Amino acid sequence: MSAGEGMFSDIPVEVGVVFEGERVRKQQMHVEFGGAHVPDKYEILEVKPPGEVEDGKITVIGPDLGEIPEGSSLPFGTEIAVSGKGVEPDMAGVMERRIHDFSNWIEGYMHLNQRDAIWLRVDKRSVKKGLTLRHVGTVLARLLKSAIPLIEAVEVTFITDPAEVGRRLGRVRAVFEERDSRTRGMTDNDVGVFFGCTLCQSFAPSHVCVITPQRYANCGAISWMDGRAASRVDPKGPIFEIEKGECVDAATGEYTGVNAVVKERSLGNVERVQLYTAFGYPHTSCGCFEGTTFFVPECDGLGIVHREFRGTTPTGLSFGAIADSTAGGRQVDGFHGISFEYMRSPRFLAASGGWKRIVWLPSELKERMKEFIPPELYDAIATEKDVSTVDGLVEFLRQHRHPVIDRMRAPESPAAAAENPGKEAVRLQASPQNAVTIPGGSVSITLKNVKIHAERMIIRKKQE
Ligand code: SF4
Repeated sequence: MSAGEGMFSDIPVEVGVVFEGERVRKQQMHVEFGGAHVPDKYEILEVKPPGEVEDGKITVIGPDLGEIPEGSSLPFGTEIAVSGKGVEPDMAGVMERRIHDFSNWIEGYMHLNQRDAIWLRVDKRSVKKGLTLRHVGTVLARLLKSAIPLIEAVEVTFITDPAEVGRRLGRVRAVFEERDSRTRGMTDNDVGVFFGCTLCQSFAPSHVCVITPQRYANCGAISWMDGRAASRVDPKGPIFEIEKGECVDAATGEYTGVNAVVKERSLGNVERVQLYTAFGYPHTSCGCFEGTTFFVPECDGLGIVHREFRGTTPTGLSFGAIADSTAGGRQVDGFHGISFEYMRSPRFLAASGGWKRIVWLPSELKERMKEFIPPELYDAIATEKDVSTVDGLVEFLRQHRHPVIDRMRAPESPAAAAENPGKEAVRLQASPQNAVTIPGGSVSITLKNVKIHAERMIIRKKQE
């Protein structure tokens, strides 16, 4: 919708779905909020009793966009409170996820990730046109009310004052932890339905999240309970119920109902999904995952790297480079987008060996998962403080008698794998892809059953 027209006539930049996917490059940014270099950042949406939310109130604590010096990089907080008679607290996670797509509808306002991993950039041109955080809050409030008619009142607070962001972060993280812990203890066998989400298809057209009690959504923002609440309110919306159907394989987590829905919603690009594996037919990865696995063929193990890690893994690759191999709604052997909460699940990569297959992860993430890593494995998993190369990693694993060393000594034969179809075979190469989807703005091209021959491959570092 153009500036000066309809619902956003009072907003100085354009607002519309056409701006989704727009990137703001470093040279073009007026200000950057959050991101990997800034530890304190978050966004949260909470459901409050009607009397506690003042509809349309927008507050900015700290300087607004025009008062921030050009080129700044700052901590940032977004707090949205909503109320309405039919709005359930369980819907908070799903409504919070809409902050991502609605923010990206604003011309020159780039939003990535979620919760306490957000990264935003605002384009100089939009600030010159007069865009302020108050306008951004107004747009978010109007779009939330228009998309979710049960919402009767919305109040938005932005925090750009660094000390205030830091002060509020502890409470916000406690809310996330309380939300996440609600499904701990439930199992996938306890429920008859799972939930699907296609919110990320604007970035990854063939991606469908399958959310189960024991496999949290890739973004870490939507639980099975959140999915249930959202699909009840808006069954035709982007979050929907999936009948499990027949269990094809309990070990890998493959269900006929899931396969049918994923095939339909991915427009035939993905035909099978196995929920608890990183190989074969793994759950697809959009681009919002909190972390990703990467395969280390030298030890037949999996490393994990999360978005906030700024160094390089023993393979020499950063999170960004590995995420590029993982994202886009594809199924790539060993490169598998995951959430932190899935790492806490008893089904975490169960068909790929679970924690026994994890050989490396950043020290900060290892500390965060301390309670969930089997104690006998804790010291055997390396971090950036222990090794910096693959050779060093293999040596470390030998010294610490990591279980993958036994796998290296006794690889499973193809015949044995064939006899155990529920057990995943070791694969050292990416699985053949019968479809390649090339996203391009609002158009995506899908090449099916193609063979690509390349004489040369040139890899260039992206210029930021
Ligand atoms: S990562 Fe999955 S659950 Fe989260 S918004 Fe994207 S599609 Fe939905």
